[in-house]
Amino acid sequence: MSIQKCTKCGQYTLKEICPVCKEKAVKPAPAKFSIVHSQKYGKYRRELMKQAKERTKAKE
Ligand SMILES: [Zn+2]
Repeated sequence: MSIQKCTKCGQYTLKEICPVCKEKAVKPAPAKFSIVHSQKYGKYRRELMKQAKERTKAKE
């Protein structure tokens, strides 16, 4: 599983489809992806998951 970015609105997601506009999401920079980056994304990913949970709650 890796961070993907929506090609339409720029939303980051862990899924292949953007949760916001349902467009296809792709890896932002696959060629330059490294261990250093993935460690940085680890922190970002937790923040993203937190935001995603809050967003889900708001819809209910
Ligand atoms: Zn989108």
